[in-house]
Amino acid sequence: MVTRPSPARATPVDVAAFRRILKRQLREREALIGELDPRAAPHLDVVAWSTTQSSRRVIAQITRALARIGTGTFGTGTGCFEPIATERLAVVPHAELCVSCQGRAEQAP
Ligand SMILES: [Zn+2]
Repeated sequence: MVTRPSPARATPVDVAAFRRILKRQLREREALIGELDPRAAPHLDVVAWSTTQSSRRVIAQITRALARIGTGTFGTGTGCFEPIATERLAVVPHAELCVSCQGRAEQAP
């Protein structure tokens, strides 16, 4: 996989490292869902239920992030196509939006 640094990014993102992190997080989320699934229903265990719901959303985000690694667009915001700060990716490797776009998305009604 060739890293394609965006012109505005000083150092290219280590996509191989992020792929490992994302795949590990994917396995962890899947294991968590498998563990909680038997009781993950609102009338049985609301915490298990909401945890599996949010984990499924994160798995979808991780899957899309892995796809972006495949297409060479990982680390680029899907909203503005500007680089996502490396510091943000370190905290949220599956981030799809840069901080500015995320802020706007959260303020949208
Ligand atoms: Zn953006």
